[in-house]
Amino acid sequence: MKTPGSILIKGGRVIDPASKFDGLADVLVRDGKVEAVGPGLRADGVEVLDAIGSIVAPGFIDMHVHLREPGIEHAETIETGARAAAAGGFTSICCMPNTLPTNDSATVTSYIVQRAREVADVNVFPIGAITKGSKGEELAAIGSMHEAGIVAISDDGRPVMNARVMRRAMELAKALDIPVIDHCEDLNLSAGGDMHEGPESVRLGLRGIPSASEDVMVARDLLLAELTGAWFHVAHLSTCRSMAMVAFAKSRGVHVSCEVTPHHFALTDEELSVYDSNYKMKPPLRRSRDVEAIIEGIRSGTVDAIATDHAPHPGDEKMQEFERCPFGITGLETAIGLTLSELVHPGHITVGRMVELFTAGPANVLRMDRGRLTAGAPGDVTVFDLTSEWTFDVRQSQSKSRNSPFSGRQFKGGQVATIVAGKIAWRRA
Ligand SMILES: [Zn+2]
Repeated sequence: MKTPGSILIKGGRVIDPASKFDGLADVLVRDGKVEAVGPGLRADGVEVLDAIGSIVAPGFIDMHVHLREPGIEHAETIETGARAAAAGGFTSICCMPNTLPTNDSATVTSYIVQRAREVADVNVFPIGAITKGSKGEELAAIGSMHEAGIVAISDDGRPVMNARVMRRAMELAKALDIPVIDHCEDLNLSAGGDMHEGPESVRLGLRGIPSASEDVMVARDLLLAELTGAWFHVAHLSTCRSMAMVAFAKSRGVHVSCEVTPHHFALTDEELSVYDSNYKMKPPLRRSRDVEAIIEGIRSGTVDAIATDHAPHPGDEKMQEFERCPFGITGLETAIGLTLSELVHPGHITVGRMVELFTAGPANVLRMDRGRLTAGAPGDVTVFDLTSEWTFDVRQSQSKSRNSPFSGRQFKGGQVATIVAGKIAWRRA
């Protein structure tokens, strides 16, 4: 995060779901904060950004990103990950704790916060581990990490298998008023699997990861959330049954929220080939009925946020035999394009609902004073359009890694400019 700046964004269609505003207006950011939103604004000596024909939204928040620093800097650093975020239209990102060492102490949290302050073009909010080393046994130093700046806890990638440990984590998280984000996967049910278990895994001769491995953990955590009163957030929800359970729990007043990733609504397991590990991720790509349920959940309001699960891996790791390749793909720079092409252009959701899923939605989950464009709010703004035609070329990515299945994909509409605290962090060339 650099020093705050001032900018006047003129002539765009401002969409701010938090204040239910949708109309032509200017946005004036002064010294890093939104000063005014309205027609015909003037400000002398302030940089002007022409946004005619574009949509001007609160800064997009990606609540699920892997930055790989400290410890795995050949895959991504805080600096490169933040640059990819800015290039993807995101002004704030939350980074998962599975670094080396694991972010399970205030020392690591403080390192990330400090490093981000020095080198990151966007706001970086660390998520702390639930257990020491994310080993699922002893609780991590959650209280002191919270003082050092974590916004949530999660053992993403290595979910807590012990329900008693998860219960205690939820009790602590409730006392601190932070959400527990769970990567819901029963590791015994999914063990050894490479892709979704079904006809496609049989056809390809790959070992399957059953939907039940996600569903049983969502069910367990919903029961624990009800028991403890904690806020439980389902990371990268991928199955129709999990979606139905979250919708049911919400209707009963359980404190639960969920996110979905663009790849889980844009792709199915039929896209998989054993030769391309860029389709290998956890949770795996599911069947079309799951994709339909995800889109319905987005439409109906069951889904709170779209998050990328940006998971950079260097080329040499993704170029092994399929079974040996790590799980995960990059996602920051294709999220807006995919959401427009898969959800907005086909008419599943309005562009206003899309903005909500990237702004007020995640801000509410994380209790962040962000995700709105009203006087006094942080001067973070995402400008995008609905019509520009562009092609994603992974070789041009700002990320250090290249593991995306969307290289070469053509998009209609995409990010135009990313403004963080009143300064342009990225702008389309
Ligand atoms: Zn995960």
